[in-house]
Order: sequence, then structure tokens, then C-alpha cells
Amino acid sequence: MSKTSNYLPNSDGHFCGVENCKIRTSLKLHTFGRRFYSCRYWSPDDDRACKFFKWLATSVCCACGAATAPIVIAKFNRLKHAVDVANEESKQAHALAAAALERERVTERKYARAKATRMIFEEKAKKLTIALLVLGVMFLVLLILSTRFREVKIRQMCLP
Ligand SMILES: [Zn+2]
Repeated sequence: MSKTSNYLPNSDGHFCGVENCKIRTSLKLHTFGRRFYSCRYWSPDDDRACKFFKWLATSVCCACGAATAPIVIAKFNRLKHAVDVANEESKQAHALAAAALERERVTERKYARAKATRMIFEEKAKKLTIALLVLGVMFLVLLILSTRFREVKIRQMCLP
């Protein structure tokens, strides 16, 4: 029951033969443990692989492996589900963190605006204090001057 695919090249024109391919082991339920030739570039994340495929003539299915495979696959699926759940939770945590970061930015902007407003009011308060001091000094000067002039007038009136 040896099956060989056609020597179909991939989009780059590359294709393997038995002499330059890689020997791998099947992990599928009904062919568990059986060995086969396939493209040396095959990988889940690589699209350079060609369609070359051929079972090894001497390879047979592993009975023990075929019995164990459903258990392993079920466990794998449970673990994969757990990973999916963890990824989803991680995404939600990232979204929450991003929202918290945005709230923090908004708060920082509000704080900066409040600080600028407070500085403006402090500046106004400083100017008003200076104006009040100047008015106070002027009032004192006027008071002193008016007291002096009154004395002068009184003295003038007392002159013979
Ligand atoms: Zn190939």
C-alpha cells in the first residue's frame, strides 16, 4: 500500500525526490508510527514545501501507538483548548491594561490642565498681592503727607 504523490512543484518551481526529501513519522490515527518521505521544507509556518509524498516500503503502523494516539490527541486537544482560553484571557487582560493606560493618560492630561490653571491663579494672586502692597504704601504716604500738611496749615494759622 505504498502511495506516492505526483511530483508537484510549489509556486517557486521547487520539488523534492526520494533522494533529497526528509523522512518523517505519521502521527495520524490510522497510520500512527508509519514513516514517510516528504518535502524537506515542510513546516506548518513555511510555504516553500512541495507536494512530494511517499510511504517507506518497510514502514508499518505501530499498534500500540495507534491505541495510544486517540488518548494523546484528546489530551492535545484539551491542552490546545486551555491554550486558546489562556490566549483569550491574555487578550482581555491586554485590553484592560490598554484601557487602564488610556484612563491614566486622560488623568495625566487633566492633572496637567489643573496644574496650569493653578499656576495662572497663583500668578494672578501674586500680582494682586503686589497691587495691594503698592496701594497700602501709597495710602501710608498719603496719610503721612496729609498729616504733615495739616500741621503746616495749623502752624501757618498760628503765625502772627
Ligand atoms: Zn520539496
